[in-house]
Amino acid sequence: MNAPTMTMIPQADPGAGYRAQKAEIDAAVARALDSGWYILGKEGAAFEQEYAAWLGAGQHAVGCANGTDAIALILRGLGIGPGMTVATVSHTAVATVAAVEMVGATPLLLDIDPDTYTMDADELVSVLEDPPPGLPPIKAVIPVHIYGQACDLGPMLEATMAAGIPLIEDCAQCHGATLGGRKLGTIGTAAAYSLYPTKNLGALGDGGVLSTADAELAERIAAIRQYGWRERYISSMVGVNSRLDEVQAAILRVKLTALDAGNARRRAIAAAYDGALAGGPIAPPARRAGAEHVFHQYVLRTEDRAAVQAKLKAQGIGTGVHYPVPVHLQSAYKDRTPLGPAGCAETAKASQEVLSLPMYPELTDAQVERICAALRDLAR
Ligand SMILES: *Cc1c(COP(=O)(O)O)cnc(C)c1O
Repeated sequence: MNAPTMTMIPQADPGAGYRAQKAEIDAAVARALDSGWYILGKEGAAFEQEYAAWLGAGQHAVGCANGTDAIALILRGLGIGPGMTVATVSHTAVATVAAVEMVGATPLLLDIDPDTYTMDADELVSVLEDPPPGLPPIKAVIPVHIYGQACDLGPMLEATMAAGIPLIEDCAQCHGATLGGRKLGTIGTAAAYSLYPTKNLGALGDGGVLSTADAELAERIAAIRQYGWRERYISSMVGVNSRLDEVQAAILRVKLTALDAGNARRRAIAAAYDGALAGGPIAPPARRAGAEHVFHQYVLRTEDRAAVQAKLKAQGIGTGVHYPVPVHLQSAYKDRTPLGPAGCAETAKASQEVLSLPMYPELTDAQVERICAALRDLAR
């Protein structure tokens, strides 16, 4: 198929999210600009309240500059730093690991379950019982709800509670997903959410937010994000600068009103892809029982990735790879970042085989049908 009229369907399209709410977003931006107050004002406070209310479960929300900082701020707020290890995964955005090193702690990278791509709960249990030698004590765990699907939090929480350490949920990809009927981000000690433009809840620039049911922790982190100020110009503790600006907060208040519908649309698109793949050579992505997936990414797994990618590209369908190189094999981290006993073997294998299809609520029915037709073609 090489019709010159064929338009490419991009794998992600943050501009479509803006256009879908353009009038409301433009009005919100104008309101923020007209206010004459640009950092940590009414819009930011209102976004924090509205986001916490949307999460429910007694959560307090604190806005910050980006999702990486949200993780680092939680670690700082919990007193995690040098001389401590934080267990997380290598199959993630590098941001998760970067945040651990930002506070001076040592990341320990565990392997994943090959079906859900989330942290191997058994390996976590085993490293908490029997930590790898030569490492500082493990003082926190950061599982990542990758692609919009819950980790196996039950046994992980049991293990972290037994060890008396916090479990921090990396919710950068799972705004609105649930496990056992509870929203992700409300189950662990605290949660970090990226508001990067392509995320399920995306700003039109950088942004992040974190949440916790612990009011005291939220208050401490709110001070840490601005130089440790509780009183203007007076640092009551050492802090950083990681603030959410008023324009982004105003935009996010509008975007938040479309999040649940956007997630429902993502699930409907996922169901259409599932149907198109049925009976073909590539299985639809696994769903964890008792969890509601929000499909930040719809991820296929195939040993013929390059060929599948090329076939889809020939039909005008963009794809992505999340992520092509695991963190522990990237040159900045290679040969110096400790791994769990499984050696991240499943992680390395997955990175060779994962392929993300186009996924965003603004995909039209016609575009979804075109993608489904191309998926059905893969069986031929
Ligand atoms: C996007 C992302 C982050 C980092 O968010 P930024 O806002 O880009 O700093 C962290 N963890 C995961 C899993 C992500 O996908």
